Amino acid sequence: MNVYDSVKMGDLLKPHGFAIHDSPEGADMVILNTCHIREKASEKVYSELGRIRQEKEKRSKNGSNMIIAVAGCVAQAEGEEIIKRAPFVDIVVGPQSYQNLPKLLEQIKREKSWAIDLDFHHEAKFDSIPEDSGSQGVSAFVSVQEGCDKFCHFCVVPYTRGAEFSRGISEIMRETIRVVSMGAKEVTLLGQNVSAYHGVSDDGQEWSLGKLIKSLASIKGLERIRYLTSHPTDMTDDELVSAHGAESKLMPFLHLPIQSGSDKILKSMNRKHTRKEYLDIISKFKAVRSDMAFSSDFIVGYPGETEEDFLDTLSIVKEVGYSICYSFKYSPRPGTPASSLDNQVPEDVKDERLQRLQDAILQSQLSFNQSKIGDVMEVLLEKHGKKKGQIAGKSPYLQTVIVDGSDKLIGKIVKVKITEAYQNSLTGIIES
Ligand code: SAH
Ligand code: SF4
Repeated sequence: MNVYDSVKMGDLLKPHGFAIHDSPEGADMVILNTCHIREKASEKVYSELGRIRQEKEKRSKNGSNMIIAVAGCVAQAEGEEIIKRAPFVDIVVGPQSYQNLPKLLEQIKREKSWAIDLDFHHEAKFDSIPEDSGSQGVSAFVSVQEGCDKFCHFCVVPYTRGAEFSRGISEIMRETIRVVSMGAKEVTLLGQNVSAYHGVSDDGQEWSLGKLIKSLASIKGLERIRYLTSHPTDMTDDELVSAHGAESKLMPFLHLPIQSGSDKILKSMNRKHTRKEYLDIISKFKAVRSDMAFSSDFIVGYPGETEEDFLDTLSIVKEVGYSICYSFKYSPRPGTPASSLDNQVPEDVKDERLQRLQDAILQSQLSFNQSKIGDVMEVLLEKHGKKKGQIAGKSPYLQTVIVDGSDKLIGKIVKVKITEAYQNSLTGIIES
């Protein structure tokens, strides 16, 4: 989501004479687009700002100016505190108000002072960001849904990104057609809770994510569709399940975070589903597409997590056989209900559990990857490999696949026979 927002910020500033630059050195403006999901996020921003300040000072010695903006969820959460602690910052702008960046630039010039905008206006944001975007490459993001009403007890997103909002159908269609015309073969539909999507069509009907995907699949030149991130309690859209069985452009991959394998912890997290309900969803998708791959996020050391609860998390990794997972130590976020619970788990216990979980996850990833050895699968080639003469792409299951081949193949979907498997990638030989 932050990558998508950063691209859009670049698009917004283009008509005002700005272009994307590789590094802060020599830049007229630096925007830090920040994430607040885990601890130390704001401290990282302040230390980064310290480094950028030095660049700003160098430039002012040479008689030129550098504008510094802090955007994203840390900006939303910290607000004016950023200006207090780092008075050399010119603009503070939240994730739902960055469409106003050009206005804020005018304001700081006119008033010779700093400017701040932290209002939530999802609709106005999407109305104002330019449709004429630069190329995102072979695989592009399209934001379809933002914000969250779930209020999981550990999470800041509902506070920093605001309430759930779904973009309209025709807007999404237009943006997808545009990214495809700019060279994208694959589109990932983004949302904090993408499975809660319920956008309205021009004739006033509410569409589910499944219906949207089926319609996007008709776009010529679009070869692959993915979506991210889904919440288990929203997985009631039968059209989404059936789309996985019927629509070949929809990739057989579902990122469905469970966070913990323990019912007690799921309840305390306010996730509103049980381990069994989660496993039933997995089975539902497997029933329509037997080769479906699954991924998840996990939090270890949530307040009150016992060794027994943690063992439930380890066992679900085995039971599902994930293709990839992301795992984090619980990080208390100010203002969230879990942060004030008094049964916090000691840091050394969190460290030890994270290590054990990550070992189990890597084992699961390796087994999943090894199960593909000998298969011939379609790979969308996206970029150069690390070694000369190699190119890298993605399998339908979102695995990185490395092959020998010419750069000319980048952007093409080719058939690859998988020869070797590692924890984080596959290698293979191009067949066609
Ligand atoms: N909407 C998605 C998650 C978005 S946040 C969902 O419900 O699954 C991305 C991930 O960050 C979460 O899945 C969770 O694993 C992790 N996360 C969020 N808050 C956290 C916290 N306070 N401490 C540690 N990890 C956290
Ligand atoms: Fe955060 Fe829960 Fe919303 Fe995901 S569903 S963004 S974890 S509050």
